[in-house]
Amino acid sequence: MAEAKDVYTISDLQDWAAATKGLDHPAVLAVIGDPVEHSRSPQMHNPALRAAGIDAEYVRLHLAPDELAEGLSLMKSSGFTGTNVTIPHKGGVYDTVDSMTEVARRIGAVNTVAFDGDEMLGHNTDAPGLKRAIREEFSIDLSDLRIMILGAGGGAGRAAAVQCAMDHCDRLVLVNRTVEKAEALKEELRELFIDPDRLEGPSNRLVSIPREEKYLERELGQVDLIINATSVGMKRTDPEVVPQRLIEPHHLVYDMIYAPPRTRLINDAEAAGAKAANGLSMLLWQGVLAFEFWFNREAPVEAMRAGLKESLGQ
Ligand code: NAP
Repeated sequence: MAEAKDVYTISDLQDWAAATKGLDHPAVLAVIGDPVEHSRSPQMHNPALRAAGIDAEYVRLHLAPDELAEGLSLMKSSGFTGTNVTIPHKGGVYDTVDSMTEVARRIGAVNTVAFDGDEMLGHNTDAPGLKRAIREEFSIDLSDLRIMILGAGGGAGRAAAVQCAMDHCDRLVLVNRTVEKAEALKEELRELFIDPDRLEGPSNRLVSIPREEKYLERELGQVDLIINATSVGMKRTDPEVVPQRLIEPHHLVYDMIYAPPRTRLINDAEAAGAKAANGLSMLLWQGVLAFEFWFNREAPVEAMRAGLKESLGQ
């Protein structure tokens, strides 16, 4: 029996039956991206498919931006069940799907597609994946927390902010180096903070600030959960995301970065006596929720976790 290739391309998709001939299971699930070879999704989803007894293989598919429309159309005609979507296609797929979930619409990005006959259904599992990750790591729901998001102007930060707002968290502080992006997001989310049953109006519960120490200092005393959604911390030489002296023992710190598994922020948080977790759980839960979107059944979470950890050498 043939092994799946590390990465397939648009020319493979043009004759998918020939390109995947001899595989043990039909290749009907994929992650599409450019680049895509770094994706660990096959190592998470294939153990899940085997554990669930589903006759399908999950593969990586490289699509350049100008190949996206043709690629999606070929996936549909080749009988794909679904696909995950990574950089740079989350916006392009958003513009292409026939319908989408509310969370995907609010975020403006699709990271999961289900092919249903002639229809393409879009979802975004990054945001609910974060919600499930916070519950798993800290045994508390977003709705019960005052939350600061660093990097609120980026894709992951925006997804996190939308989920926190949709869950009606107690307070949301949006932080971004380019503060205009955080301010624009605040205006977009404002309607979700209007609650006649609360004494405090939206302007007290939804705040945007630049990533400067004096503003961070003012806000961090009124925050329970700090989420790092910037890319700062991926390199050992990266600067602090939050000055260590501002981290307090009552803080919960969630760093979306999962490689390396221990960032400077995580070390600083633990040194300050705070609880901290890395982004592996978000990566896991976005995958779990994608599986459930495709198959409408519970995903084998532990098989996915084991596959993911093994792929990361953790
Ligand atoms: P992105 O769209 O490129 O956004 C990057 C964010 O980081 C922006 O807010 C940007 O601020 C900020 N930033 C970049 N360099 C900075 C610096 N030197 N100082 C201060 N802020 C800086 O990236 P993304 O896709 O949102 O990803 C962000 C991070 O989340 C990455 O580390 C990624 O690996 C992680 N992530 C994890 C998961 C998971 O499942 N665990 C999922 C998605 C993403 P400006 O707006 O000012 O440029």
